Amino acid sequence: MGRKIVILLGHPGVGKGTQARAIVQHLEIPQISTGDMLRDAIAKKTTYGREAKEKMDAGELVSDSIVNGIVSERIKRNDCKKGFILDGYPRNVSQAETFRKLVKNGDHLAVIELSADSERLRKEKRLVGRLMCPGCGEIYNEFSKAPKEDQICDLCGRQLIHRSDDREELISERFRTYHEETSPLIQFYQDLGVYHQVDGMRPIETVTEEILKIINNSVAAVYDRRRS
Ligand code: ADP
Ligand code: ZN
Repeated sequence: MGRKIVILLGHPGVGKGTQARAIVQHLEIPQISTGDMLRDAIAKKTTYGREAKEKMDAGELVSDSIVNGIVSERIKRNDCKKGFILDGYPRNVSQAETFRKLVKNGDHLAVIELSADSERLRKEKRLVGRLMCPGCGEIYNEFSKAPKEDQICDLCGRQLIHRSDDREELISERFRTYHEETSPLIQFYQDLGVYHQVDGMRPIETVTEEILKIINNSVAAVYDRRRS
C-alpha cells in the first residue's frame, strides 16, 4: 500500500498547523511542519539556524536547499512509512518540483488549500494574537482560542510564547510572500489533479471534518508520476 501524503496549503494564519494537529489524531500519521523544524533549528543554534532566523524575521522564505534537505531527511524516518502531513511545505514551485521526485507511484497524494480572506485574518487577529506552546506545540489565540489559564498551555502547563514573526509590521510582507511564491502551487497541483479546497474561515472543527472527508474520499488520488 502506498503512503498517505497530505499537503496543507494556505495563507499564514489560516490554520494549517491547527488543522494538521487535529488530523494527526485521526489518521495516525505524523505532522511535518517546516516552520516548527526551522524554529527548532534556531533554538538549537544549528548552522543553518542563523540564516533561517534572518529570513523568517523578514517574512521571507528560507532557502530551498535548507528546507528541501530538512524534509527529505525527515520523511525517511520510520514513522513516515504509512504517510505524513506536510504543513508549510512546499512553499514555492521549486520546492514542489523537488518534492515531486520524492513521491512514489502508488502513494496517495491530497493537496488541500485552506482558503482565506486576508482582510478577515487581520481583523480576527489570527497572527498577532497567536500563542504557541514551546513544549507540545499546541496553538492558541489570545482573542479567539485563549488558554484556560492566562499564558499557560492547557495540555502541558508550559508558559506560552509569541512567535517572533507574528508581528503586525511583518504581516503584509508574509502575505506578499505567500501571494507571490506560494499561491502558484494551486495551479501546479490542479494540473496534477490532486488539488482540493476547503474554506478555512469556518470554525476549526468544521474545517477538520471537511479535510477528513476529502482525504477519505480521494480514491482518485493515487499518484502516478508518468502522468504529465
Ligand atoms: P506561517 O505559515 O503561519 O507563516 P510557518 O511556521 O509555516 O508559519 O512559517 C514561518 C516561517 O518559516 C515562514 O515565514 C518562512 O520564513 C519559514 N518557512 C517555513 N516553511 C518554509 C518553507 N517550506 N520554505 C521556506 N521557508 C519556510
Ligand atoms: Zn503545551
